[in-house]
Amino acid sequence: MSTPRLEIDLKKIAHNLKALIALYGAKGVSIAAVTKVVCGNVAIAELLVKGGITILADSKIDNLKKMADGGLQCQFLLLGPPKLSEVEMIVKYADISLNTEISVIRQLSEVALAQGLIHKVILMVENGDLREGIMPDDLKNIIELVLQLKGIELIGIGTNLACFGGIQPDQAKMELLSDLATEVEKKFDIHLQHISGGNSANYQWLSNVHNRGRINHLRIGESIFLGCETLKRERIPGLFLDAFTLVSEVTELKSKPSLPYGEMGQNAFGETSEFSDSGIGWRAILGMGRQDVPCSGLTPEMKITILGGSSDHMIINPQQSSLRVGSEVRFNLNYAALLSAMTSPYVTKVNT
Ligand SMILES: *Cc1c(COP(=O)(O)O)cnc(C)c1O
Repeated sequence: MSTPRLEIDLKKIAHNLKALIALYGAKGVSIAAVTKVVCGNVAIAELLVKGGITILADSKIDNLKKMADGGLQCQFLLLGPPKLSEVEMIVKYADISLNTEISVIRQLSEVALAQGLIHKVILMVENGDLREGIMPDDLKNIIELVLQLKGIELIGIGTNLACFGGIQPDQAKMELLSDLATEVEKKFDIHLQHISGGNSANYQWLSNVHNRGRINHLRIGESIFLGCETLKRERIPGLFLDAFTLVSEVTELKSKPSLPYGEMGQNAFGETSEFSDSGIGWRAILGMGRQDVPCSGLTPEMKITILGGSSDHMIINPQQSSLRVGSEVRFNLNYAALLSAMTSPYVTKVNT
């Protein structure tokens, strides 16, 4: 089998999903599965829907289209803010989108009306992480405008944390969202179906909380695929961390000096590197590189050391291992590495 190859253990993903649905379900919280890190992979999406997921969410409309074309029976949610240039596609392929800009929602309304559809909207509220979100003081003004739009149904409010600023979802931040939900429902005499409190970073808060308030929804990606929460990257008990394995192969194995020799300038990526001299020793080249995956996001299953990489090569110290040219070397992946490996057309995906 060719390399680099990403082996996807569908059973382990299904196990993680089942555990998370049970865990959060017991707290009264339903989850949308976020597929962006797996690029809307249809086999994985099928497994998610079979496992009980009713909303698949992705930040790329192309991924939602791919899953819709794959015949999946569920609702599709576009993580936002949506692009004005994609409004037609969004109304066609997304049932729901996360929004912050009234100009975009107006456009969604026009297109939905023209297509004879209702597009559902969740408004995102800024809560300190400083990625997408309406400032809390502006929420009521925007809701007033949204409620006048035909073709648009406001189904909830939400917030996103721990993505840009690394700000943690805690009781105060969740209460702010809860209180806003209650206030706007009262003011406008509406019911908000989804109060969407966050992502895989909400694990600690939700596990420990006695009163979740109005929060009844999360959008979960990383925990399903990599088995961890995302504030400290700690394993969620009972979940698999190794549903994905990246396999590469040795293309060169030689005894060489550890110190590059000659006049030193920049490397292929404009960096000047520092090396320490540990004499002559074995080193190996693996046939995959930065075009496929950042080597900083990989953890080898065998005892070897990653020395660095260029576009299509990864240099390792094979330590005591008995590698030969052609031997396969296996790695676990973090979120950044999984995102890259799933996105690279040069990495073969194999379901196991
Ligand atoms: C990516 C994303 C998520 C999912 O985050 P995970 O850490 O993978 O759980 C949830 N909400 C929004 C808005 C996102 O962009």
